[in-house]
Amino acid sequence: MRKIIHCDCDCFFAAVEMRDNPALGDIPIAIGGSVEQRGVVATCNYPAREFGIHSAMPMAQALKRCPHLTVIRGDMAKYKTVARQVFAIYRDVTELIEPLSLDEAFLDVSEVTQHHGSATLMAEAIRERVSREVGITVSAGVAPNKFLAKIASDWNKPDGLCVITPDEVDGFVQQLSVKKINGVGPRTAEKLAGLDIHTCADLRARTLTELVEQFGRFGRRLHELSWGCDERPVKTHRERKSISTEQTYAQDLPTLEACRLELPALVSCRCFN
Ligand SMILES: [Mg+2]
Repeated sequence: MRKIIHCDCDCFFAAVEMRDNPALGDIPIAIGGSVEQRGVVATCNYPAREFGIHSAMPMAQALKRCPHLTVIRGDMAKYKTVARQVFAIYRDVTELIEPLSLDEAFLDVSEVTQHHGSATLMAEAIRERVSREVGITVSAGVAPNKFLAKIASDWNKPDGLCVITPDEVDGFVQQLSVKKINGVGPRTAEKLAGLDIHTCADLRARTLTELVEQFGRFGRRLHELSWGCDERPVKTHRERKSISTEQTYAQDLPTLEACRLELPALVSCRCFN
């Protein structure tokens, strides 16, 4: 039985900016590109979320929803420095870390003996240290596998901890909405709803054969997850299979050739990150 902690900094870029300028703490702020550059929201704080603003929303739309929104360009070098500090705190607990992004990671603490081997106490200690030493908050989820740890870290966000013990897995999963399953996007959710499948308990009532018929390979995955089973190990190294980067252009790139010309710069800036 594994012990996994999923750590996720709360509105990371915005949290760093609020730490460095407390005047930003209670007002809606968004980090991202300017309207003139057709920028999008990378991160926003909770006061901004109350206006319905979220990541990937065009900044122009965000400003329509909240005209007094404070837009901050963002400082990726600074965020990377902060992320390194946070990950150094994780590494004091375990070397078995799988980063998912700058501010998110799985930690396998199955063999860790600190804190009497309690993953809950480890997660609390991490949260306390990040808050005290770095000045931002981390939400954490503790569970016997990656699937549930990731859901748990989101459960009591922001600045929250949620623990799903092995005894609690079954009850937790049964009531879980299928929309919470990683990989279930709006279209799959709609299809599931059409089959009258809303919770993992509903999923369990269907046979593996039926789920595979309906959803192909993902049907098998749905079947496993509906029972709270996820055997994926925490991977400290991963082979890069794709890269992604975000860039909004002030002017459209109208032709394939124009797009092609932009590619080398995008790829090189990404690979050296
Ligand atoms: Mg985060």
